Amino acid sequence: TFKAILVSRDDDKKQSVAVAELTEADLMEGDVTITVEATTVNYKDGLAITGKAPVVRRWPLIPGIDFAGTVLSSSHPDWNTGDHVILNGWGVGETHYGAYAARARVNGDWLVPLPGKMSAHDAMAVGTAGYTAMLCVMALESHGITPERGPVVVTGAAGGVGSVAISILSKLGYHVIASTGRSAEAEYLTGLGAAEIISREELSAPGKPLGKERWAGGVDAVGSMTLANVLSMTSYGGAVAACGLAGGMDLPATVAPFILRGVSLLGVDSVMAPKALRLEAWKRIGSDLDLGKLKALSTTIGFDGIIDAAHDIVEGKVRGRLVVDMQRA
Ligand code: NAP
Repeated sequence: TFKAILVSRDDDKKQSVAVAELTEADLMEGDVTITVEATTVNYKDGLAITGKAPVVRRWPLIPGIDFAGTVLSSSHPDWNTGDHVILNGWGVGETHYGAYAARARVNGDWLVPLPGKMSAHDAMAVGTAGYTAMLCVMALESHGITPERGPVVVTGAAGGVGSVAISILSKLGYHVIASTGRSAEAEYLTGLGAAEIISREELSAPGKPLGKERWAGGVDAVGSMTLANVLSMTSYGGAVAACGLAGGMDLPATVAPFILRGVSLLGVDSVMAPKALRLEAWKRIGSDLDLGKLKALSTTIGFDGIIDAAHDIVEGKVRGRLVVDMQRA
C-alpha cells in the first residue's frame, strides 16, 4: 500500500480531505504507471483541497495537477521502465487521480520527458505555475514584444507564476516591473531580476479606460480590476498575457485599449496545451531559467505539509514555488 491524499464529498455535498492507504489496483485507467518523486502545490491545488472553487469534478479524487517521477511500467510505445517524466494538467488532479500519492497511472500521451539537466525536484520547482509563466513569455514574444519595445509588468509578482515570469523575463533582457501586495518581498523580487516594484493597490483600484502608457506588455496572474488596469496602461500595439484569477474571475474593462491603442489580450492555458507547445516550453525553461534563481524562489516541504500549504496558497501566503519531496514525510 501507499499513502494518498483523498478529497471526498458526503451526501450533503460537504467536502472533506484525508490521507488514505491505497494500492495500485485503486488507481484509475492509464497505460503508464509512475513512481511520483516530486510534486508541488499550485494555486489550483489549493482551490481543490480547500474546496474554495469547483476544481474537483470526480469524487473521491486524489488532487495534485502536476508531478515528476520515473516510469514503473508502461504499455505505451513512447515510454519504458526507468524513463524520467513530467506531467502537467490534462485534467489530472481534477477528473483523473493526481499527484498526491506515491504512484500515479495516466495516459502516456500526457507525459513529457524530463529535460536533460533537470532533476525531478527542479522540474517541480518550476511546476505548472512556472511552465505557465514560460507559455506567457512565449505568447508575448510571438506577438513581437521584445525587450526593446519597453518595460513589461508582472502581477502577482511574489507568487509562483509571477516569480518564475520575473526570472525568465529578466534573463531575456526585459525591464521588469513587479506588482506585489507584499512590500516586504521587495528584496526577493529584485533578487529575481525585477527592475522596479509597484504596489498591488496601484493596479487594483478602479482606473481610467485609458491610462498613461507605462509598459509594452504584461504577464497577469491576478485578473479582475488589475488586468483591466494593466490593459489600460499598455502602450500602443502592446500585448498582455492573461493566465490567472488570484484577484477574481471578472474583467471590469472597456474596449478602449483594444480599439484606440491596438492592444492585444493573449489568453494562456496550460491544461490542454498541445504537446508540441509543452515540449517547446520545457525546452525554453531549460535554456532561459537560471537554476540558481529557481533555488532562490522555491521552498521544499514533505507529503505531510501539503494540506496546510493548500490553505496558505489560497490565502496568498506562499512566496514563489513550493516543491513536495515525496520521500519526505
Ligand atoms: P500563487 O503562488 O498563489 O500566486 C498568486 C499571487 O497573486 C499571490 O502570490 C499574490 O501575489 C497575488 N494575489 C493573491 N491574492 C490576490 C488578490 N486578492 N488580489 C491581487 N493579487 C493577489 O499562485 P500561482 O500558482 O502562481 O497561480 C497564479 C494564478 O495563475 C492562479 O489564479 C492560478 O489559478 C493561475 N494559473 C493558471 C494557469 C493556466 O493554465 N492558465 C496555470 C497556472 C496557474 P503578491 O503577494 O505578490 O501580490
